[in-house]
Amino acid sequence: MFILKSKSQLEKAITKAMKIRTKVKFISFGVYSVKGTKGNFYTVKCERVGNEKQVSCECLGAAKGLVCWHSACALSLHVAIVRQRQTV
Ligand SMILES: [Zn+2]
Repeated sequence: MFILKSKSQLEKAITKAMKIRTKVKFISFGVYSVKGTKGNFYTVKCERVGNEKQVSCECLGAAKGLVCWHSACALSLHVAIVRQRQTV
């Protein structure tokens, strides 16, 4: 799990995510399933806790507090959905 503070934190993960071009499935608001390179799926949760944006992924990298590319994929979808909700 990591706390999202700025977009620059995500830059490397986004670059990797764009190279891999995986599938992201919407499960529920803030919960996404991202297909890994080995065909496995990782559940990524994006939630707001107080003033912090917390992102958690099931992979080993995220368990160590790293910003993984799965999180970057899920976040890009999450941000799009949040924007849609705000305009409705
Ligand atoms: Zn991950």
